[in-house]
Amino acid sequence: MSRNAELLSRLSACVPKGVSTKGLFISRAENAELWDVDNRRYIDFAAGIAVLNTGHRHPRVMQAVAKQLEQFTHSCFHVAPYETYLELAERLNRLAPGDFPKKTLFVTTGAEAVENAIKIARAATRRPAIIAFSGGFHGRTLMGLALTGKVGPYKKSFGPFPAGVFHAPFPNYSDGTTTDHALGELDRLFHSDVDPADVAAMIVEPIQGEGGFNVAPPEFLRALRRIADQHGIVLIADEIQGGMARTGTIFSIEHSGVIPDLITTAKGLAGGFPLAGVTGKATLMDAAHAGGLGGTYAGSPVGIAAALTVIDVIETDNLCARATRIGERIRSRLEKLAQSLPCIGDLRGIGAMQALELVKDRPTREPDSALTASTLQQAQKRGLLLLSCGASANVIRLLPPLTVSEEHLQEGLNILEAALRAALASTRP
Ligand code: PMP
Repeated sequence: MSRNAELLSRLSACVPKGVSTKGLFISRAENAELWDVDNRRYIDFAAGIAVLNTGHRHPRVMQAVAKQLEQFTHSCFHVAPYETYLELAERLNRLAPGDFPKKTLFVTTGAEAVENAIKIARAATRRPAIIAFSGGFHGRTLMGLALTGKVGPYKKSFGPFPAGVFHAPFPNYSDGTTTDHALGELDRLFHSDVDPADVAAMIVEPIQGEGGFNVAPPEFLRALRRIADQHGIVLIADEIQGGMARTGTIFSIEHSGVIPDLITTAKGLAGGFPLAGVTGKATLMDAAHAGGLGGTYAGSPVGIAAALTVIDVIETDNLCARATRIGERIRSRLEKLAQSLPCIGDLRGIGAMQALELVKDRPTREPDSALTASTLQQAQKRGLLLLSCGASANVIRLLPPLTVSEEHLQEGLNILEAALRAALASTRP
């Protein structure tokens, strides 16, 4: 029995079924490579779900963390604050778009950042309702799930969720929703379900992650900004998956020129250490009363040390430009592949956040989730870690570290092509 198989059987005996895995136990990792406990090597195009934008164990991040470990590991910011929290807040306040004073709060996970953004928006507006979008993903806490616009596997059997959340459609290829239709439905929502004067916030991923790498058309985001301004609604950009240089800009909403009121960050922020944040307009951020925000581990000094260096690395190693180049490489390779493989219904993404949607038939766009699952399995067998996403789990997302070498990027893309061809041969003989 392989070591992996042995650990998997222990896992099924001691970990609940709800915690699913790809079945590969990691023993070590370096930049875009990962080895399992049987010493099998993988190219990592999952990057811990868009966390390792600076790769596994970036040497400078490791050094910063090691230095922090020698000073202190935890004090609880509310008990004994530390200067590095302020430094990181100041940096994010400068990096976030918008020519107005900003403030930043740190927490631990993405879901917690989302929860706090909602709390802040409610405190600032004294309004109850929130608008979110179909296909959106905002975390696994109960409010995160209330906001999430995808039932399986996240929301199924876990309700009821907090009240006051309304969903509007998000423009996307899969079901053909256009910007005009999505905005029309939002308007309908304001007439049939909720008075915009009762809406505290609209939360949107400028490029949906779990929902299928659906890119919000700039005119959609601009319309949301206009509607938010018209009704005094707080516009929250959830940048947890698309942020931190992933799309070629620090925040993915920058591509549209739209300036949100609040931004949530996590994942790529601290290069593999748990840290999340909410950055936004100082007037809104200050709406919550003293003692209303925080948490025991909120803004861990270890995560903050990592994040300060992640931002240094993004700047000194030009990772935004690198993300754009990686995206171009992926796109040109996949475009060639799509010419000969009609199962590729759509290619989309921005920068190094690229995806291919697999369909049974291009004209009907009928999703092929079996082909997608089989491609992922074939890729894993050949040494490439990939993730799927999308409402029908028929989208393959590519999230290589932005520090990936050209050689490993090409190796990964070669494996992806071989895996897709093998999956096609086995599912459509
Ligand atoms: N928002 C978005 C856009 C995400 O992609 C995720 C995680 N996939 C979350 C929120 C939740 O983050 P976490 O898993 O760190 O709670």
